[in-house]
Amino acid sequence: DVSHNVLLYLEDITVSFDGFKAINNLNMYINDGELRCIIGPNGAGKTTMMDIITGKTQPDSGSAWFGQTINLLEMDEPAIAQAGIGRKFQKPTVFEELSVWENLELAMAGNRNVWSILNARLNSEQSAMLLETIELIGLQANTQMLAGRLSHGQKQWLEIGMLLMQKPRLLLVDEPVAGMTHQEMDRTAELLISLAGRHSVVVVEHDMDFVRNLAGKDRTVTVLHQGSVLSEGTMSKVQQDPKVVEVYLGE
Ligand code: ADP
Repeated sequence: DVSHNVLLYLEDITVSFDGFKAINNLNMYINDGELRCIIGPNGAGKTTMMDIITGKTQPDSGSAWFGQTINLLEMDEPAIAQAGIGRKFQKPTVFEELSVWENLELAMAGNRNVWSILNARLNSEQSAMLLETIELIGLQANTQMLAGRLSHGQKQWLEIGMLLMQKPRLLLVDEPVAGMTHQEMDRTAELLISLAGRHSVVVVEHDMDFVRNLAGKDRTVTVLHQGSVLSEGTMSKVQQDPKVVEVYLGE
């Protein structure tokens, strides 16, 4: 039974590459404002699933809806981004030669002309949003610092901030803590948890300590395996699921 506040619907999705089903009859629902962790062994289909949501890959069959009215399978990548789905890839891609503030300014402007943006004055609403985001990502002390001089963790947070400037309803985050210190991981969990409610957030992650931290006692974790949902529920529930234990022991 599908709840009335579902934001993302993936139904009966199948994707084949040369006859191999990377996604095999996948059904998944993400609620509005939810923070969802997706785990699963290598090759489970996590990346392909994100590619379908963002329009990078077209499925062979199934449906994908964003809200009640937006059919994702009829849209290309830019239109899907425009509709409010932001994606953060594993590696940070910030403009190293620009300051933290300028990176956020550019992100706010989207793909308009770079120099006209940097020379334009922000209105008060825009400045307020920028300041709020800088605080959220914890870079208040680094506003004028060149992004290239930030730590790896800080670059990841800046990029999350840049995605937020586009006011996405859904944020897809791919392995955000790879290469981070424990302290940076904890800070990243806090940041992502603080985004939930205002945004829906889907996090694909391998680091189980981090997933445990993100999911807490109550949030839903989805385990993908061979292109479909193997198990779904709280972290303690999926960890005790014999099907999940078998798959992870077999890795
Ligand atoms: P995950 O992100 O969970 O590791 P992927 O979605 O990357 O899994 O891959 C799922 C399966 O689909 C893997 O077996 C992978 O080799 C295969 N696959 C993914 N993309 C392609 C592609 N473009 N061509 C052929 N096979 C692919």
